[in-house]
Amino acid sequence: MPQTPRLDALVRDIAERMAAAEERGRVATYIPELACIDPARFGISVCLADGRRISAGDATRPFSIQSVSKVFALAVALGRIGDGLWRRCGREPSSNAFNSVVDLELEGGKPRNPFVNAGAIVVTDAILAGRTPKEALAEMLGFVRAAAGDDDIYMDAGLARSENLTGHRNWSLAHFLKSTDNLLHDCELTLGTYFHQCAIEMSCEQLARAGRFLAGLRAEDDLISRRNVRSINALMMTCGHYDGSGAFAYRVGLPGKSGVGGGIMAVVPGVASIAVWSPGLDRYGNSLLGTQALEALSEGMGWSVFNVG
Ligand code: GLU
Repeated sequence: MPQTPRLDALVRDIAERMAAAEERGRVATYIPELACIDPARFGISVCLADGRRISAGDATRPFSIQSVSKVFALAVALGRIGDGLWRRCGREPSSNAFNSVVDLELEGGKPRNPFVNAGAIVVTDAILAGRTPKEALAEMLGFVRAAAGDDDIYMDAGLARSENLTGHRNWSLAHFLKSTDNLLHDCELTLGTYFHQCAIEMSCEQLARAGRFLAGLRAEDDLISRRNVRSINALMMTCGHYDGSGAFAYRVGLPGKSGVGGGIMAVVPGVASIAVWSPGLDRYGNSLLGTQALEALSEGMGWSVFNVG
């Protein structure tokens, strides 16, 4: 195996600095289970093209991947429906919050992109066509397990039930979508499925492994087509961090997707797949220290896709 001393040292240094950071952002409280997560946690894992994995901090501790699941759901939906999906969902960045009802109303019920909540609800609804929620969830979980090469990955049903009771904003988005005929199923059915998909638990090591198909690191690239990989990476770059996506592209320069559990999955095409986790969020709902860690890693390794040599 080739050695990567610079990367090893950088990952260790980042983990030490992030563990000691004073300003850690605010843990999401609107999902009761997430409010109890220790904000002092920090994990990072990097998978390289040669199969090496470099991890530090809480890299093996599972956390709720929340909106990072929207990437896997989109991969499943694009594989099944292809470009027809874009009749129901846009591909433009958003300038309002991830759970904005305003954006949806302004667009007449067509979500801005598949990574804001309204768009992800439409994607889940599309996956449900011709399937029961159980089958759709088994397909999504099966995809994630195959991507990570790990059958131990699971969904936290208790967390999903709790979001089902408290996720009023998502209920309003689902009802709005229904009112504009952009939801095929009952709100209960689609949202129940969506909440479960968000409740997938993964560690940084599992998430970094699961992102390899987007970085082109899997020898057996049988999961989705190269075209769909390109589409998803483009959407992660432009929309993966909600209304903070421009700043993320500027600072980190990598396609990435965040979740309110504090996880971020990012890819360096052809080179690496990365996962970071720190539960405290910035004002856009993206992990504060996770973003800082990716910025330091990208800068230190020269990994921004916007570098010119
Ligand atoms: N389950 C969360 C919600 O729908 C996901 C949001 C996120 O991770 O950004 O509000």
